[in-house]
Amino acid sequence: MTGDFPRHRLTVVSGPSGVGKSSVVGELRRLRPDIFYSVSVTTRKPRPGEVDGVHYHFIDRAAFDAMVAKGELLEHAEFTGNCYGTPRAAVERALAEGRPAVLEIELQGARQVRAAMPQARLVMLMPPSWEELVGRLTGRGTEAEAAVQARLAEAERELAAAGEFDERLVNAEVRTAAEQLLDLIVGKDS
Ligand code: 5GP
Repeated sequence: MTGDFPRHRLTVVSGPSGVGKSSVVGELRRLRPDIFYSVSVTTRKPRPGEVDGVHYHFIDRAAFDAMVAKGELLEHAEFTGNCYGTPRAAVERALAEGRPAVLEIELQGARQVRAAMPQARLVMLMPPSWEELVGRLTGRGTEAEAAVQARLAEAERELAAAGEFDERLVNAEVRTAAEQLLDLIVGKDS
């Protein structure tokens, strides 16, 4: 892959569904549009308001499998019945240009990035409490009941893996969490 890059250059943001990863990374994007934000491919159907090429590249299963077969994904995972993956080329280009890069992905993908690029920094976004997470996830209103239950089960597994991460950030307030994330990205190697 790209060879060496400093530890703070590639940041993986993970955390259970509903913890506010998209909001925090969205706020970071407003603060620092110069950072590279990976746009994943997914076989999930777009939610209302999601734009192809902006929030995700929405593709079908055959196209996804072809990308996997060709090694075009840096990592990929199945999550509650849909496939997600990080296109490799764009991330490698950003790193080669010396731009910090941020991936917002789930746990299995974070583990794959850790294995492929041990110098990446893994950050887990945590809810202030389990009750708060349940409230956020059920209040989203975009998912059917069964999907919410699947995401809650997945959330328990993800939180249990918090110890594998380099950093854990509690998302009590989006702006604060985004600033803390930025501190990690622009801070000195640690
Ligand atoms: P959602 O369907 O809510 O947009 O995303 C479901 C989960 O998949 C979230 O935890 C999200 O961070 C994760 N995800 C999004 N893109 C990727 C990706 O490219 N790879 C992996 N492994 N997970 C992803």
